[in-house]
Amino acid sequence: MNKEIIKYPSPVLRKKSQEVEKVTEETKRLGWDMIETMEERKGIGLAGPQVGELKRVITVQLEKPLIFINPKILKKTKETEAREEGCLSFPGLFLKIKRHKGVEIEALNEKGEKINFEAVGLPARILQHEIDHLDGILFIDRTGFWQRLKIRNKLRQILKPPS
Ligand code: ZN
Repeated sequence: MNKEIIKYPSPVLRKKSQEVEKVTEETKRLGWDMIETMEERKGIGLAGPQVGELKRVITVQLEKPLIFINPKILKKTKETEAREEGCLSFPGLFLKIKRHKGVEIEALNEKGEKINFEAVGLPARILQHEIDHLDGILFIDRTGFWQRLKIRNKLRQILKPPS
């Protein structure tokens, strides 16, 4: 089922998400709904809070869509990379964000199995962006002070109710 995307500045996006204690049918359904929602909006990543579910569940669009439950970054490369990224909760806003080039994460898959997953480049960037969402951290928090000043007007436009 396609879900509504929560947009900035909803306070939900600032809340910390809860660990999933047991992967149930409901968790699986949430993951599938998130994949459907992400694909419908042509997004490449989505986190629970963005659909109003404060649960540590993210979906990532790689060669195929993947669901990660309770994802945790185990290792990250020292090397960083600054690239433009967007967020479904900020339509039309693209910011250059510095992220670790590679990460290794640990998570549960939708079957409740523990998995380790290594990613470099764009997939690593998506994982860092989505895991941030689970802690209420948004990509605008990761930009520098000067870029934040520059985006102030853009943010105002986003916040303006549609006429
Ligand atoms: Zn996002």
